[in-house]
Amino acid sequence: MSVSYVDFKTVDPNDYDALIVGSGFAGSVVARELAERGQKRVLILEKRPHIGGNMYDEYDEAGILVHRYGPHIFHTNDEGVYRYLERFTEWSDYSHHVLADWYGTYMPVPFNKNSMEIAFGKERAAELIDKLIETFGDERKVTINELRAQEDPDLSEIADFVYRNVFLYYTQKQWGLTPEEVDPSVTARVPVFISRDNRYFQDAYQGMPREGYTKLFENMLEHPLIDVCLHVEAESVFDLEFEDDTEDASLQAILLKGQEFEGPIVYTGPLDELFLARFGRLPYRSLDFVYETYDTEHKLPCGTVNYTVTEDYTRITEFKYLTEQVSPKTTIMKEYSRAYDDPDRQIPYYAIINAENEAHYERYRSLIDDLDNFYPLGRLAEYRYYNMDRIVRLALDLADTILAPDEGTNEA
Ligand code: FAD
Ligand code: UDP
Repeated sequence: MSVSYVDFKTVDPNDYDALIVGSGFAGSVVARELAERGQKRVLILEKRPHIGGNMYDEYDEAGILVHRYGPHIFHTNDEGVYRYLERFTEWSDYSHHVLADWYGTYMPVPFNKNSMEIAFGKERAAELIDKLIETFGDERKVTINELRAQEDPDLSEIADFVYRNVFLYYTQKQWGLTPEEVDPSVTARVPVFISRDNRYFQDAYQGMPREGYTKLFENMLEHPLIDVCLHVEAESVFDLEFEDDTEDASLQAILLKGQEFEGPIVYTGPLDELFLARFGRLPYRSLDFVYETYDTEHKLPCGTVNYTVTEDYTRITEFKYLTEQVSPKTTIMKEYSRAYDDPDRQIPYYAIINAENEAHYERYRSLIDDLDNFYPLGRLAEYRYYNMDRIVRLALDLADTILAPDEGTNEA
């Protein structure tokens, strides 16, 4: 069996019980659950020429498996999510390592005891590490904001160093903002770690799908009750019916091919796109990726190098570390962060979290308050900074919610 791709022109909405927009983890997990547990006939509309959302990977011309929408490393503390995905892939036990290129010297990121020795020399680092342990405890994580709030001169010395050499320039490149201007939850993703553990993530479960993400998604969407239409943009095929003609009028129904779709509609794209940006575009950051292939086994010392003090790109990833692929060639990818100002050519990758943008999002969100069969889900539709594992968990929960009335009836 393989994924069932259908041409939108031939689709009859009456053949489906549920409609899903987007085939990333949000859309694909819900699709699988509704089909398998709920015996629902599911139609997925996906605007890209492939499934898998941002996790999509493929072999490049040199035969190297590369990620097309940013490097994706799976990590979670949610054992249920890890085991659930094991139904669709085997995991490798890869742990991601990141080094900061500090004027040509490599330092582990998150900044840790080993980084301190490189930055301050062994002797001074030992004193500073003692101070960190005394203040926060050993094997603890401290955000850069917490560290900067300390008045002790030794702690200020560490905070200043890390702020200037790890966070400031990288954050400016990534967000067009200083670390003070981004939401604290963003820099908190990469705390200072009072440890010798050089891994980027400390989650209990980490790894990469052995045959790649695209294969994982193919396995997930291979189901007799799931059809996928590629190259279909929801807003071009949905007719939206509103309460009245005012700008803030709530959505009453979604029509597909001239008839109201009454089953669940799970929408995982950006909400502003669905409403044709009637309140203006939601702000996002986009990315450009530049690939380079070399006739050498490895180009970098580890999976990712972050350029925290030099270069225009933020980081370089060498996929072979992530995928454990063996080849005499290698492909690396440089990431350039950009303002998102051309929806026709750019992809919205990162929601820019702040109070103003959240209020802007809520205005869109309030348009769907009255539509009981419409479920926004995922990084785009919820305008959040979610990792993959969180999305899988939310998708499983949403499938439970959608199936609850049926399952309730069955039990009764
Ligand atoms: P997506 O994967 O974005 O899927 C949405 C899908 O909907 C896409 O296929 C899109 O084409 C489709 N779509 C959108 N709008 C429409 C429309 N109007 N009509 C039809 N189809 C539409 N997470 C981790 O856990 N580990 C990592 O290492 C990691 N690295 C990342 C690196 C980068 C550069 C980025 C940007 C994100 C990273 N993430 C990582 C986060 C991860 O990408 C998200 O958690 C995940 O993609 C969320 O899945 P999703 O289904 O919500 O969205
Ligand atoms: N960050 C930084 N320097 C680094 C790594 C991260 O300044 O070397 C900051 C930056 O603001 C970044 C945020 O921490 O956007 C979160 O980093 P993460 O690696 O989690 O970003 P992602 O992989 O999601 O792009």
